[in-house]
Amino acid sequence: METENVKVLIIGSGPAGYTAAIYTSRANLQPVLYEGIEPGGQLTTTTEVENFPGYPDGVDGNQMMADMRRQAERFGTDIRSGVITQADLSQRPFRVVVDGTKELRAEALIIATGASAKYLGLPSETKFRGQGVSACATCDGFFYRKKDVAVVGGGDTACEEATYLASLCRQVYLIVRKPFLRASKAMQQRVFDTPNIEVLFEHNTVEVLGDDSGVTGALLRKTDGTERTIDISGFFLAIGHHPNTELFAGQLELDAEGYIRTEPGTSKTNIEGVFAAGDVKDPHYRQAVTAAGSGCIAALDCERFLLK
Ligand code: NDP
Repeated sequence: METENVKVLIIGSGPAGYTAAIYTSRANLQPVLYEGIEPGGQLTTTTEVENFPGYPDGVDGNQMMADMRRQAERFGTDIRSGVITQADLSQRPFRVVVDGTKELRAEALIIATGASAKYLGLPSETKFRGQGVSACATCDGFFYRKKDVAVVGGGDTACEEATYLASLCRQVYLIVRKPFLRASKAMQQRVFDTPNIEVLFEHNTVEVLGDDSGVTGALLRKTDGTERTIDISGFFLAIGHHPNTELFAGQLELDAEGYIRTEPGTSKTNIEGVFAAGDVKDPHYRQAVTAAGSGCIAALDCERFLLK
């Protein structure tokens, strides 16, 4: 198998990966960045980004990622398409295999593989993704001002997103498959105290309905078999995220949900020379700007490690 030595290898091309690339290339560490399965990351599945500082008029998610990529390239980051299919962190340099065909040996590794929102898996949900179907109320809620929307899920995220959306939208339906909410009591109370949230317990989504303009409704089925259609323009999933850490299980310390554990306030994992940035280590904030900030932290930690 072909082998190549690199100084800094960055895996992932969301805001965390590109920010780490901008910083490490400006520090002359000649980073190589592999884009992974979803070049540009989760922001390429959203429409407009209005909450990233520096874009007063908002920016299309794809455009923002293209800009970050260009900025990383400008300072010499070697950006490549390809997916890391194996990783061996037991020895230095770290060894990873790209697309099953090429081995890279890296002195330092920055993991920015992100997380993926879970979806229900309905074909109609896939069809309207980005046209009314979203997995991020903070990102997309603003586009549904004064409209009716639904949130699926019964955890803290679903309750938080439902209350957030209730402050913008006319009516919010919270679709919960069980007869109770899993969220903390305080969060549940907030939902029950919000007059424009209707909690639909024991309901599952059969289909997301829509036309050329996007989502127009959802067909729901209650556990007792009765069906109901709700008229909505936005369908928000809040049923959890998967961190993309399968490659590192058994090697890096992960939390119970599979997120990479880092030393508090840093990007350092339990293996010296391996750093984590962005959603792959952050189950809480999951914002483009926080991911970018953590990419910067990883680059600075990495630079200090290589100087030692
Ligand atoms: P959770 O795993 O806690 O909740 C997921 C919810 O989605 C559950 O209600 C689950 O239902 C439901 N669900 C899962 N799959 C399906 C499906 N196929 N169809 C319908 N419903 C489904 O995820 P969260 O993202 O809410 O939270 C993740 C972690 O982050 C938690 O530890 C949470 O406490 C924490 N968090 C804390 C916040 C805070 O403190 N402010 C804010 C947000 C998150 P069921 O209950 O039936 O399994």
